[in-house]
Amino acid sequence: MRKMPKKSLIAILASLLLLGNPPVYSAPTEDSLPDIGTTASSTLSVNQEMAMGDLSIRFIRAQSPLIYDPLLTEYINKLGQRLVNHADSVKTPFHFYLVDSPSINAYATFGGNVVLHSALFRYSSTESELASVMAHEISHVTQRHLARFFEDQQRKTPFAWAGALGSVLLMMASPQAGMAALSGTLAGIKQNIISFTQSNEQEADRIGLRILSRAGFDPQAMPMFMQNLADQSRYSSKLPEILYTHPLPDNRLSDARNRANQYPAKIVPESQDFLFASIRILTMYSAEQNSYTEQLLKKYSQGTAKEQLAATYGRALLLSMDKKYAEAKTVLSPLLDKYPDNVWFIDAMTDIDIGQKQYTSAIARLQNALKKQKNNPVLQINLANAYLQAKQYSQASQLLFRYTFNNPNDLNGWTLLTEVAGKQGKPNEELAAYAETMALQGKFDIAIAYLSRASAMVKLGSHDQERYDARIDQLRQLQHNYEQYYK
Ligand SMILES: [Zn+2]
Repeated sequence: MRKMPKKSLIAILASLLLLGNPPVYSAPTEDSLPDIGTTASSTLSVNQEMAMGDLSIRFIRAQSPLIYDPLLTEYINKLGQRLVNHADSVKTPFHFYLVDSPSINAYATFGGNVVLHSALFRYSSTESELASVMAHEISHVTQRHLARFFEDQQRKTPFAWAGALGSVLLMMASPQAGMAALSGTLAGIKQNIISFTQSNEQEADRIGLRILSRAGFDPQAMPMFMQNLADQSRYSSKLPEILYTHPLPDNRLSDARNRANQYPAKIVPESQDFLFASIRILTMYSAEQNSYTEQLLKKYSQGTAKEQLAATYGRALLLSMDKKYAEAKTVLSPLLDKYPDNVWFIDAMTDIDIGQKQYTSAIARLQNALKKQKNNPVLQINLANAYLQAKQYSQASQLLFRYTFNNPNDLNGWTLLTEVAGKQGKPNEELAAYAETMALQGKFDIAIAYLSRASAMVKLGSHDQERYDARIDQLRQLQHNYEQYYK
């Protein structure tokens, strides 16, 4: 679950950005040259970094196949937060996102936003390995590598911020395409990007290893994952994408090995949630479905008790996705009987119930679970969807208004609310909710146009109209403040 600020993030950003000016060039003196990880001569304020991070994530939502799966979102954010809690120099909240992609990649953009490709689950044989990639990315953020890169460029050849953010994001999300697309003033910095990232990799490894160990994971997992990557690039003609943005020369691997050896050896018991998350990604998401899934299920079904449990869960998911609901129920029921509070199982059984049109039983189970796990976002989203499928629109709408208020940056809530309002025949609410899905993807013009239509539909001076108009003002302000970064 993501931690939400008390005020909406958008409102905070809007108010902070009113004070923000474009970064001012200031020549570094000998004394003010930045130590690694310090902000002594930073030209980008934390607020500007947060704004660029917020805008980055909107771009990423619009361009990348993000996985909006409440269980997986919750899992990677819990794991990420566990690591962040052991990092130094944390200046912004962290958020972790998952992209459905068969290429191994991970990258950190501004403001504590870390993107992981689903393939990482396929190539991480332990949770410690996955955590090692995340700890490395977290370290790029705490050491301000990307921010310092922008600042350095600004010193060498002052360029307009406009366009730079989009190009750099493209390069991180799709390194091969991105490198080719760098144009204009940015073409000259291509080589700088390559050499600059190389000089930062070892620092991110070193700091990342410390975070990994402090958080209770196996430090050896970092060199093990790197070895895995090195093997991938040796035996395949295509370089894993992650190696474009995180180059892996031989000395990086040997350094990581030497450093990991300085930490006490640690046997980390596998986490059940990691196994569930891996199985869920491999069975449910298109980029990852292949014969490997079947191999892994077989391996798990002959493994430890935790692996067997994950394999049974995976079988139930596969059956459910094949619409073999009765069989899926037979497989899943014993698990749910034994672990009635387990959200992975409750979520899977909800889908089966909905598939069989047994809405009453799905709703009752979710309502019960929510009594024990109040405000659990996975259960809330599931319940809202169950109400929607059962045509209980007013219950769905009530729940979703509360959910979107508490989780304004979760696209799931707004998407469901759009659908519910449509079914209820409330076009103004439908347009307003749809506008939020557009704003979350940085499409402010479209969002404002839809909100204006919603505003024109309702009674003059009504509370609804005030609400829509206030939101239009907020979005206009946000759009105005972001113009410097993406025009
Ligand atoms: Zn890196």
